[in-house]
Amino acid sequence: MTYVIGYPRIGEQRELKFALESFWQKRIDEEELERVARRLKKRHWDYQRQAGIDYISSNDFSYYDQMLDTIQMLGCWPKEYGDLVGLDRYFAMARGDRNHRALGMTKWLNTNYHYFVPKLGAHSQFSLNLEKAIAEFKEALDHGIKTKVNLIGPVTFLSFSRSIDGSDPLDHLDQVVGVYEEALDRLGEVGVQMVQLDEPALVLDPDPKRLLALQKAYQRLGERDLDLVVATYFERADEAVEILVDTPIWGIALDLVHGQPSKESLQRIARSDKYLIAGVVDGRNIWISDIDKKVEYLQNLPQDPKKLLVSPSCSLLHVPYTLRYEEALDPQIKSWLAFANEKLDELRIIDKLYRSHSLNDEDMRLYEANRVANEARKSSTKIHDQAIQERLKANSLTERSMKAEQRLPLQRELLGYPLLPTTTIGSFPQTQELRKVRKAYRAGKMSQERYKAKIQELIAQAIQIQEDVGLDVLVHGEFERNDMVEYFGQMLKGVAISQNGWVQSYGSRCVKPPMIYGDVSRPRAMSVEWITYAQSLTSRPVKGMLTGPVTMLNWSFVRDDLDKEQIMKQMALAVADEVADLQRAGIQIIQVDEAAFKEGYPLKKEKRQSYEKMAVESFKMAVAPAKPTTQIHTHMCYSDFNDIMPAIDAMDADVISIETARNGNRLLEAFRDYHYQKEVGAGVYDIHSARVPSKEEILKQIEDRLSVFSARLLWINPDCGLKTRSWEEVILALRNMVEATKDVRSRIIKV
Ligand code: GLN
Ligand code: ZN
Repeated sequence: MTYVIGYPRIGEQRELKFALESFWQKRIDEEELERVARRLKKRHWDYQRQAGIDYISSNDFSYYDQMLDTIQMLGCWPKEYGDLVGLDRYFAMARGDRNHRALGMTKWLNTNYHYFVPKLGAHSQFSLNLEKAIAEFKEALDHGIKTKVNLIGPVTFLSFSRSIDGSDPLDHLDQVVGVYEEALDRLGEVGVQMVQLDEPALVLDPDPKRLLALQKAYQRLGERDLDLVVATYFERADEAVEILVDTPIWGIALDLVHGQPSKESLQRIARSDKYLIAGVVDGRNIWISDIDKKVEYLQNLPQDPKKLLVSPSCSLLHVPYTLRYEEALDPQIKSWLAFANEKLDELRIIDKLYRSHSLNDEDMRLYEANRVANEARKSSTKIHDQAIQERLKANSLTERSMKAEQRLPLQRELLGYPLLPTTTIGSFPQTQELRKVRKAYRAGKMSQERYKAKIQELIAQAIQIQEDVGLDVLVHGEFERNDMVEYFGQMLKGVAISQNGWVQSYGSRCVKPPMIYGDVSRPRAMSVEWITYAQSLTSRPVKGMLTGPVTMLNWSFVRDDLDKEQIMKQMALAVADEVADLQRAGIQIIQVDEAAFKEGYPLKKEKRQSYEKMAVESFKMAVAPAKPTTQIHTHMCYSDFNDIMPAIDAMDADVISIETARNGNRLLEAFRDYHYQKEVGAGVYDIHSARVPSKEEILKQIEDRLSVFSARLLWINPDCGLKTRSWEEVILALRNMVEATKDVRSRIIKV
């Protein structure tokens, strides 16, 4: 039997994205949006049915996010949205409207998917709105498929909620479980037989209160007349398993790819009456399974095969749909990949082989191809590059040659920037016109020379603007980049870019992560041409802009046939080559962005230290070629950095720019408490809003920062890159930033 935890919903041609955007722009009405949604759901059910999947879900569809759906289902939207109903309320929470701010989003555990964070207080009330789940179940039923219904579980919902008044959201457990009981009864009435409750919170470091809540919740919910599956993923959940086997649920879904469960856990399930939903096919990465190995693994489990279902390790939401549209990929690389639909085939074949059922011709062909591809993967020269492996082994350039306290005075003298130097984080507005230029060039409709001239024109304009505004350290503007990871991915050996490998990041936003399939190296310079051109136009220093090795990995699909540390360090050497080239070309400041540094932190405490060590070492290796007089910047944003100050310090960047304004300057305390001694650009304004910060506002921000950092160590910059803003906003905001800085400077100098 095969079981799919969940299926992507944005559409293989991103149909839902485009429909949503049209709906928001009022170009289509609600009915049309619904039509698109219905078409997609049907198609997705068909794919799964055609692949022979036995347990298919409904309610894994969402217009925006499944946690947001759950807020609706439980009727616990914050008061301020109380004046709205239906989709108006839903999208107001998702995106804000004229009178409402959007709810905050954060990452779904350690994936790049963002969910909405429910806000609860002691007085929150809950009441059931089950229309969506019921409607989708009926839709599938009309289509001839009896689905299991997916819901976010109550323990995860409450654990992932934020308190608005210091009360603990988990204190609402009784009431919320009451609403879930009602939901199960209602679902039972319309003919639902199985409900999957997603409880990924159970893989976090065990917390006694959460475990108690788990026990209480499923003791009660399991009593209902429905088959309940509790789904965990992304890590092992041994403590939860121990509790769940004694509750009256039907089955437990475990991730058997990321974080192996303990032997005892597997035995506990085998000894109990529970079904094991065995997540053996990687649901969040894109490599083919080694089918023989998976079968062998399943056969060695203590589980009674009658009580085992073969499944992906998590919802397929985290991978692209299908390889069908990948026409440009090297066929051999393509043979190593499995997107969602190809994974459905793997599930079926693994299940049949596990049960020693015979394969039909088509499955036999797929199975043979899988064996051939896996064999080739072990030895292909496309993947394995002896020279890179040897270089990494022999590499001794792992850190800079001089300590930061000695480097920094040299740099200040050489670079000659004033007190409180002003700069930006790298990107400038990506206008419609610019997107058109890049698109035409990519499609072969614009010559290389024309393209180059066009980008140079934009760089020259950006340099002029920065000089006029009066910034001290300039940037080239990143006009040649569609994305800070994909751009470099395209130019690295060992990395492939798909044409249509879109994955939902949040709402209508999708990303197309590069695929690191082989040993990584940098055949030729990637950024030098643009940066040196920018530098040739000005006497002020221009910062070279690179994406760091940790971020490159965290925003890519990373190969699963090599130790992560090796992959990250190969990437580090590729970045190091670029650092060396920029330096050789006369660039004196190089920023190596690590926006996603925090994202790769493992979910389990015991794994964090080794991740941190690998990440810090990789960053240091990437910047090690920098001479003491070359200033290395890094940049981080949109994560909580409070608990990784020692790691940030250990990265040993001369200057770090960080997002601080958006989160209300909470981060400043972390730097103060840590007594951070290198230079810091603590962002003085949020770049997400179209609102132009006034000079007074920025003045106040600078003063706040001066109560934490000595003026000698402080840089003045926005929170993050400016690519989503218009030039008009950018110019006004930066002007105010420079004016405010000048005011503060003159005061300090007088004192
Ligand atoms: N240098 C990049 C930019 O300015 C950094 C982006 C990021 O931090 N996400 O766009
Ligand atoms: Zn940023």
